[in-house]
Amino acid sequence: MTLRYPDIFNEFTCIGSDCKDNCCKMGWDIEIDSGTLDYYRGLDTDLGRRLCESIYEEDGCYYMSQQEGCPFLSAEGLCTVQQTCGAEHISEICREHPRFYEWFGDYKEAGLGLCCEEVSRLVMTHERPILFTEKQIDEETDDMAFDSECLAAVKMLRDRLIDIAQDRGFSLLQRLVILCYAVADIHDAMQDGDCERLKKISGMLAIDGFRMEIVIQAQKDFQGQSESAKESLSWLFSGLAGMEYMGGIKERFVIDDEIIDAMLKAESSFERDYAPFEYELENVLVYFLYRYFIKCTRYDDMAEDYLFSAVYMTLALRGLFLREYAKNGVLPDKERRIYLVKEFSKEVEYDSDNMDIIYDDISCCGDTRDKLCRLCL
Ligand code: SF4
Repeated sequence: MTLRYPDIFNEFTCIGSDCKDNCCKMGWDIEIDSGTLDYYRGLDTDLGRRLCESIYEEDGCYYMSQQEGCPFLSAEGLCTVQQTCGAEHISEICREHPRFYEWFGDYKEAGLGLCCEEVSRLVMTHERPILFTEKQIDEETDDMAFDSECLAAVKMLRDRLIDIAQDRGFSLLQRLVILCYAVADIHDAMQDGDCERLKKISGMLAIDGFRMEIVIQAQKDFQGQSESAKESLSWLFSGLAGMEYMGGIKERFVIDDEIIDAMLKAESSFERDYAPFEYELENVLVYFLYRYFIKCTRYDDMAEDYLFSAVYMTLALRGLFLREYAKNGVLPDKERRIYLVKEFSKEVEYDSDNMDIIYDDISCCGDTRDKLCRLCL
């Protein structure tokens, strides 16, 4: 089996009791896999009985009840099941979180989810472009069907999209525009199952001059549309403000004309002050592209959604930074930016209902490319 992973993958260690937003306290449904459930059922101890009492069944799956977080988290923020029984006896999802995986036969991809504050820190402090490595591992081949020709074309194209996201010869906003202009062709080729066309698109996007042509064309297309930039900002933030949130980040998306005007007025000085830190949102964009675009291999009608949502979420985070900059006259500091990225991932990216709202918005609005581009030009 070949495993592909980003270079930060092996740098991650859970910071446990030092974590300010421990994932065990989030009230998520924690699935208990069958091997772990059997182990708990066989435990003839108080802990075993408490574990079995805390697990409930729904549609044939088993979950830990946790209204206000996991009942087995100690006051110090550590897992008492792991401390007592060993890491091999906590449920697979607890052992693996925040790591994520995708399997295609004898090929597997791994990554780290941004909803974890330590991952957010790793991503936001990695100044060099994130690199991806492959190695051989000893693991059984996955037997779920997929089209291997499609996987090869999607991988090649995703490498190109990541290369664009990391092309520091362009500003981050210009890179987002290049991605937006590529979406329609990619989406059509994916829907037609045309792998040759995907390879051709990939070849075109590799050409520096072609990328520059897109930027110049987009600048012409959107010249003098400052009123539309206001509308696009309002569309982006009102979409996000209408979602369900567990915590207080929702209020960061509620805006009015006064806030929008202040954000647009502050934008050029924000661009200047944030330029040395652009690698942060570059890495976030690379994360979204790496994690989601590969899924087109199985969901060929989702290419547009995965690409536009990567741009949408990157711009949403930039918008959060810009909003605080406009209010305070200075950039939110590094800790604050790490917090906002983690919180956004936890509340939006990791909430399937909220992601569906973004996908619906992208599919229904009809001019998503233009709305997103107006926020970049
Ligand atoms: S959020 Fe990350 S660092 Fe914090 S407890 Fe969970 S896995 Fe560990």
